[in-house]
Amino acid sequence: MDDVEPIAAIATAPGRGGIGVVRVSGGDLSAVIDAVCGRRLSARHATYLPFLDADGEVIDRGVAIHFPGPQSYTGEDVLELQGHGGPVVMQLLLARVLEAGRAMGLRLAQPGEFTQRAFLNDKLDLAQAEAVADLIDAGTAQAARSATRSLSGVFSQAVHAIVEALIQLRMLVEATLDFPEEEIDFLQRADALGQLQAIRARLARLLDDARQGALLREGLHVVLVGAPNVGKSSLLNALAGAEVAIVTAVAGTTRDRITQPIQIDGVPLVVVDTAGLRETGDEVERIGIERTWQEVGRADVIVHLLEATPGGAAPDTAAPGTAADRSDSGSPAADAPVAALDADIAARLPVGRPILRVFNKIDLAGIAPRTDADRAVWLSATTGAGIDLLRATLLRLAGWHGAGEGTFIARERHLVALRAATAHLAEAHRHAMEQAQALDLFAEELRLAQERLNEITGEFGADDLLGVIFSRFCIGK
Ligand code: GDP
Repeated sequence: MDDVEPIAAIATAPGRGGIGVVRVSGGDLSAVIDAVCGRRLSARHATYLPFLDADGEVIDRGVAIHFPGPQSYTGEDVLELQGHGGPVVMQLLLARVLEAGRAMGLRLAQPGEFTQRAFLNDKLDLAQAEAVADLIDAGTAQAARSATRSLSGVFSQAVHAIVEALIQLRMLVEATLDFPEEEIDFLQRADALGQLQAIRARLARLLDDARQGALLREGLHVVLVGAPNVGKSSLLNALAGAEVAIVTAVAGTTRDRITQPIQIDGVPLVVVDTAGLRETGDEVERIGIERTWQEVGRADVIVHLLEATPGGAAPDTAAPGTAADRSDSGSPAADAPVAALDADIAARLPVGRPILRVFNKIDLAGIAPRTDADRAVWLSATTGAGIDLLRATLLRLAGWHGAGEGTFIARERHLVALRAATAHLAEAHRHAMEQAQALDLFAEELRLAQERLNEITGEFGADDLLGVIFSRFCIGK
């Protein structure tokens, strides 16, 4: 541990606050402690003292805590100096610490480097280390609670349990491989198939839980498209419960995308309100429209907003993902250009993405809020009638089935690994069912599945992946 470079950083957020923390980690920090605190510190005790500069002048007074390794966040010697949280005083304290540690090679920490060391020193596994960043970045209370669960190891333990079961099965298979004459009835005797099925079922449940966790982290990307003045900004406001977009009766006022974080049931919803999709000579508006189509291509759910027609007739209830045709809607002649635009928008929507058609302004049309399966919702953005129906439908389309006590945070990276492991186990099953049981292939698929699961907790040596994960942390973490 002594050959690791010591690192230091301001661990608190930049700006002014009651308290700011400078954190230092390294093999042996006694020289820094002597210089800055002017005395020895008892382990894990808060000591109120002056922080001294090189001339013995007081920079600030605060609390110093020494966590001798390995009983510390990083597993190394850690020193935390808690001073007043002003940007200048924190910079002075950091500069002083760096100067005091210069002889031992003390340098500024990279983003995430403290947590990376905690991982390298086996204080946390990789899924837990990621949960640290996810907790800091949590956008909703539900996401924060789930990140805390991942941090405390709920996700990792579930992965370990499956890996353990896989190892048991692999031992059986590998042993049998050494005695080829017994291969034939191996599967029956050891109930290898039964074991495999049980593992697959557990993995399927874990993947489902992880998908919920990933939704909490990534949020659901909803793109609102629709003709000008159909009520996109008003709907966004209704969903957010706050005035965020500019609402006006003049067509074409929503010129750019407005990304607004909204939550439903603790699931962050990233709604992109888009520039009115109409043909225009205005350059700024044209760029806005171009961006709209880019957003549409990335959406998890596309909400196509239309105006409800008087009398309550649904213009049509085309299946999701198909181009809609409003020409038979019975709209008054004056609406014809709008209807044509809606048809044009519907025709341009990408196939294969859930498309929810929302009919707005039911208060004007004189109809009640309702839904048509998960394909259409009738509501009023201004009165709020039917907004709850929309919220529930969006969550269903996202595949959200409610957070439970065990919901943990997860990332796309985890889902990729879990899906790959699932595919390997399906292959293993296929080999086991073959007439001429290919035990060696069966064994190999089990091994590959285990390898993919180990990626989640970081029990493998891909340094480039580690670099990518930790570089996205904030400094001081
Ligand atoms: P956008 O261009 O699609 O963003 O449309 P806006 O949200 O700016 O709305 C255009 C106009 O329609 C504004 O005058 C809104 O007040 C009005 N509007 C939007 N939703 C409703 C609704 O549900 N009922 C009624 N009566 N008016 C609405």
